[in-house]
Amino acid sequence: MDRIAELLSRRKDNGLLRFLSPVDSRKDSRIYQDGKELVDFSSNDYLGLSGHRKLKEAAKKAIEQFGTSSSASRLLSGDFRIHHELEERTACFKGTESALVFNSGYQANVGIISALYGSGDAVFADKLSHASILDGIGLSGARLFRFLHNDCGHLESLLRKQRGKFKSCLIVTETIFSMDGDRAALKELVELKEKYNCRIMVDEAHATGIFGANGSGVVEEENLTERIDLIMGTFSKGLGGFGAYLAGSQKIIDYLINTCRSFIYSTALPACVIAANIAALELIEEEPFRRKTLLENAAYFRSELRKQALEVRGESQIVPLIVTEAQRAVKISEFLKDKGFWVRAIRYPTVPAGQERLRFSLTYHHSREILGKLAEQTGKALSFYK
Ligand code: PMP
Repeated sequence: MDRIAELLSRRKDNGLLRFLSPVDSRKDSRIYQDGKELVDFSSNDYLGLSGHRKLKEAAKKAIEQFGTSSSASRLLSGDFRIHHELEERTACFKGTESALVFNSGYQANVGIISALYGSGDAVFADKLSHASILDGIGLSGARLFRFLHNDCGHLESLLRKQRGKFKSCLIVTETIFSMDGDRAALKELVELKEKYNCRIMVDEAHATGIFGANGSGVVEEENLTERIDLIMGTFSKGLGGFGAYLAGSQKIIDYLINTCRSFIYSTALPACVIAANIAALELIEEEPFRRKTLLENAAYFRSELRKQALEVRGESQIVPLIVTEAQRAVKISEFLKDKGFWVRAIRYPTVPAGQERLRFSLTYHHSREILGKLAEQTGKALSFYK
């Protein structure tokens, strides 16, 4: 058997084979597939903004003005005033000197890390860091050290031994972890970066729009903006749009415009996407009730799951339930689909083997009534598939 067929067959035997499952349409956290309506618990549209009238109107207006594509890289003719408007607003939202827009979170992480670090440098990354962070480190040629999840003691022991051997060093973490829904120990990480003369980069993909008094993220909530060098985040999750940003100093942004390959060698985001992102930033300011309700409902859902004697992790709108086995996770996911809930099984290699889970991704559109029903059905599914 060739290598490709072998991998596919092994994945199938282990319950790890992925396949696509197209939906016909979606609206307000409901998806429609083959004539069936399902409540979607696997999107990152946390605030329900992707269907908001203001975002749609902004995008339509921009399509009329600019067409459907930017048609060139930012360094050619794809650099519109509206990109700069979004960058100025993002810098203001994040409280930094400057900001740069990227085509996606994946491209941002890969490009930023590989532009800033190289051989002779080291990056210390939380063990649960997103694939795009790890890929960026891989591409950079810097030495990677992974510290145990949220374990600053382990990080410090690595820094003590290794810091002196490298030129520039970076500590990198997500602020809200995408698969565990918990928070980084940000203050301690910042103290370590200062003590060991490193930079720190945070990924606020799952925190943007949700945490902090102004909804800018965990960095804002913990009042750490001035002490963090690189604040990355996405427009594609809580903000209901698309693309990503890096907020930081003007010097870093100028450097990236000149060196970051994923920024330079890719067509700029179209104006309709940029316009929707601007409208989303306005809504974060105008409609704080969305993030407040979301986080209150997440706490309610966790308490309902605990009533079913289920052990849940995290402290955000992402609620993981570890079921330890890929096949079991898939069966529970299918059981819930049959009851009208779209909850995807998260399996190896997205999470470590043995940590397979259901990941409930809550949005503003999930009412308490729905959450109560889902908790009840999840309890049933887990006792059925022991
Ligand atoms: N960082 C984190 C923590 C993520 O969860 C994701 C997306 N799942 C990304 C980056 C990539 O963002 P995008 O989807 O915009 O490429």
